[in-house]
Amino acid sequence: QTAEAFWNSVRHARPLSIGFNCALGAKQLRPHVEELARIADAVAGVAPRVPPAPPTRTLLAGLEPFAIGPDTNFVNVGERTNVTGSRRFAKLIAEGRYEDGLAVARQQVEAGAQLIDVNFDDALLDGAAAMTTFLRLIASDPAIARVPVMLDSSKWSVLEAGLRSLQGKGVVNSLSLKEGEAAFLEQARLVRRYGAAVVVMAFDEAGQAETVERKVAILQRAYRLLIDEVGFAPGEVILDPNVFAVGTGIEAHADYGSAFVEAVRALRTACPGALTSGGISNVSFAFRGQDGLREAIHAVFLERAIAAGLTMGIVNAGALPVLDDLEADLRTRIEDLLWNRRPDATERLLAVAEAARGRTVVEGADLAWREWPVEERLAHALVHGIVEFIDADTEEARLAAPSPLGVIEGPLMAGMDRVGDLFAAGKLFLPQVVKSARVMKRAVAVLIPYLEADATRANAQGTILLATVKGDVHDIGKNIVGVVLQCNAWRVIDLGVMVPAATILETAQREQVDLIGLSGLITPSLDEMTFIAHEMQRIGLDIPLLIGGATTSKAHTALRIAPARTAPVVHVLDASRAVPVAAALKDANRREAFAADIAAEYEAIRVEREGEHETALVTLAEARAAALPIDLAIPAPTPSFTGLRTFDAWPLADLRTRIDWTPFFRTWELPGAYPSILEHPVHGRVARDLFADAERILDELEAGALLTARGVVGFWAADASGDDITLYADDAREQPLATVHTLRQQARRRDDRALLALADFVAPRTAGVPDYVGGFAVTTGHGLEPLIAEAKAAHDDYRAILLAALADRLAEAFAERLHEEVRRTLWGYAPDEHASLDDLLHERYQGIRPAPGYPACPDHTGKQVLFRVLEAEARTGMALTESCAMLPGASVSGWYFWRPEARYFGIGKIGRDQVADYAMRRDWDVATAERWLAPVIGYRRSA
Ligand code: SAH
Repeated sequence: QTAEAFWNSVRHARPLSIGFNCALGAKQLRPHVEELARIADAVAGVAPRVPPAPPTRTLLAGLEPFAIGPDTNFVNVGERTNVTGSRRFAKLIAEGRYEDGLAVARQQVEAGAQLIDVNFDDALLDGAAAMTTFLRLIASDPAIARVPVMLDSSKWSVLEAGLRSLQGKGVVNSLSLKEGEAAFLEQARLVRRYGAAVVVMAFDEAGQAETVERKVAILQRAYRLLIDEVGFAPGEVILDPNVFAVGTGIEAHADYGSAFVEAVRALRTACPGALTSGGISNVSFAFRGQDGLREAIHAVFLERAIAAGLTMGIVNAGALPVLDDLEADLRTRIEDLLWNRRPDATERLLAVAEAARGRTVVEGADLAWREWPVEERLAHALVHGIVEFIDADTEEARLAAPSPLGVIEGPLMAGMDRVGDLFAAGKLFLPQVVKSARVMKRAVAVLIPYLEADATRANAQGTILLATVKGDVHDIGKNIVGVVLQCNAWRVIDLGVMVPAATILETAQREQVDLIGLSGLITPSLDEMTFIAHEMQRIGLDIPLLIGGATTSKAHTALRIAPARTAPVVHVLDASRAVPVAAALKDANRREAFAADIAAEYEAIRVEREGEHETALVTLAEARAAALPIDLAIPAPTPSFTGLRTFDAWPLADLRTRIDWTPFFRTWELPGAYPSILEHPVHGRVARDLFADAERILDELEAGALLTARGVVGFWAADASGDDITLYADDAREQPLATVHTLRQQARRRDDRALLALADFVAPRTAGVPDYVGGFAVTTGHGLEPLIAEAKAAHDDYRAILLAALADRLAEAFAERLHEEVRRTLWGYAPDEHASLDDLLHERYQGIRPAPGYPACPDHTGKQVLFRVLEAEARTGMALTESCAMLPGASVSGWYFWRPEARYFGIGKIGRDQVADYAMRRDWDVATAERWLAPVIGYRRSA
């Protein structure tokens, strides 16, 4: 009764918004009812918020916004958290193993799912309860909650349970006109009030739509109702024209594949602004149990559906919808089936299905192409990245051509155009493009002696200057961008790493470049990029500026860099985007519209930020009062030594066993986790080739001991006072060696969770018990430079980039390996630990190794203290740049904390009070502190 009174007053008052804590049940709510009623009275008569006009782009959100527009690629909705689609997930949920179910969701997101479809429609499950439980678990895992959720159920009660437990803006999948207009409208209104987008299926009172005409008619009717009657924006309406199974043996089903695709095409004009979607794996339902074949069918199906305008699809997110060279014959048979091209298509497909199990057929050592005319041989070599014959073929072409330049402008350019087209169409992947570039460069090298100086320049699309900014050493991504642009006929001037602003500007002016691209890995580089943008404005250099690299973001570019100048500044997310962006900026017809679009988008980001509240923070004093208490009764383990120990030339063979390969594939824009990526139906072949090349280079590095792995580990007696950790030179703790200043979380929270600082993981001085802290710095970069230089001299960027990427992998592996040794023997607090590689890579062990510059200790200058106490320069030959990037590039460093309570966390945003306090402790002025702490400043800085 009390709760009802409450809701009545809330309804009566039409509040601006209602916030309530999910942990409060009706019982706990009771004491607050009076208070709430007073609030309701207070706002009675206040006009409700006027909702802003709906955006033209579709905006969904998990923890992060997700925009879908005409320029976005096909959207993958992960299907594996679906009890009807995944036997494994169904089993986990049936056994109540929700936490393991979360792992499935996480895998989907890691594999590239941009939304996840969640479905509990199983007769044996209480769908609403399962939905609620699962969504609340998801909400606690930021790795999953970052993407929007698609609530999938045929029961309204389950959908509504989902809507009640969902943050962000999700999607309801689905409503339909099956039970008539009234029910449809009622549910749609509720969906809209809950703030979700909606999928509509092509069903009506007469049942499911199977023909194109009926699909379009029903969906158009629903679309109009949603927009005209309910008030949805077109971009919030997602139309699903029903994917039904083909190959069922029933003749009436044979046209289901093309009916879907044609309906998608027609809906683009019939329902402007709406999105389209489908449950893709339905199409191959008749081939249950043959996963390899099914994924091949999905890839072929999607290719045409996407071309017809399909915006999104529910798919197995590992299996992205681009089609590599599927064996030609298999492909034909699949198309025969999907597009109903012959009556015996099903039998013919089944006959070859065996060959499709798991893998596509590799084009073997088929040398028939060697018989082709020389132009075609050149094109073939470029597309397939084959260097073996390129020197001879180029020479042959030169002798036959009217001029050496003609070879470049003719067959070579034509070949590279094909590479560019295939890449743009998602049929070639980064490693292949980089291999093509190697072929091109080798061919050009053959011709150079016969060319006028700079003859290639006249022919270029344009010139771009690339540089990693001052203080930063990261260049893998930048080098990949350079190669990809070269493949698209750009002249690239690559100034390398640690390039001062003046050099960049002078070169740009002297060489009259068309674009500048800046790259950086660490946060201080963001400031340097802003500085360069200001300088460009000051000297009147008004060419477009591209921004890329690991810590850069669209938001930072919009908020900090773009406002520094009037000419365009564009954030380029990855190498595949670089080509279209550069082309648009160079093209006189498109430049202005493109720049205006970007400017408008960034302006929208700025406006949105303006309107945002500052992060709610507690005072530093309150935060300190909420420090994590540790269990001081557990005695600190005594390390086997204090002081330093150097490790020289750690065997590469041992480090190889600890490599985490997944990030390696990500570098090459092959999303998905190792090792399953090797079996991926689309990327698998490219991934396997790349992996084999990597293994070969590792063999070479190992056999010749070409890289020297050097590292140093230190342990010191330590104690904490406040947020500072003191390291001592002696075990008696009489001679302080250094102070490590840590930062503390300040975010206001609803429960009594601790607000952490790394200092919490060390016994406080006042406790008077012994404790220790460790540190390490490792590098596998010694010896790398000459190898890379040699590869580049041989026009082999593919090898150069592989070398750099592998050295990075080995450095991470070294950190992992050493940490293991620390736990087992050097510190020795876990002598019996037997973690598998998987455990290691998921940090399933006691103790952490936080790295300065990462979220728990975001101040990169922490490395200065670390390097000093480790004597890292002298002992390992490592150094820090002025921005605190480590040299050589393939290096890792961090602190060791042993305690069971120790874990990774993020500082989040901090307040003025902590910045001032930190500045004082570090003996800095506040401006210096604000510069180094820029990424975590939680208030608006004055300038
Ligand atoms: N296996 C991966 C591991 C590297 S990233 C690879 O090969 O690339 C994991 C490391 O990043 C951790 O060991 C730690 O050094 C650092 N790290 C991760 N989260 C952190 C945090 N919140 N604060 C500080 N350091 C963190």
